[in-house]
Amino acid sequence: MKVTWDEGTCIHAGKCVEGSPNVFKVVDGSFVIDESGASDDEIRATVAQCPSGALKIED
Ligand code: SF4
Repeated sequence: MKVTWDEGTCIHAGKCVEGSPNVFKVVDGSFVIDESGASDDEIRATVAQCPSGALKIED
């Protein structure tokens, strides 16, 4: 699974880092996505919580 993030669309609601903190992280001020940090089902559920549509799953 690959998840992409559109910085210009993100409204920084934080649902991703709350929902899957091992996948969606801020490292040294940069947003990082580590798809190995949770199951595909969990990542799908967290991406579904994103209110802006900034996160997209590419299988
Ligand atoms: S949940 Fe979506 S809008 Fe909120 S911080 Fe994450 S990517 Fe941005």
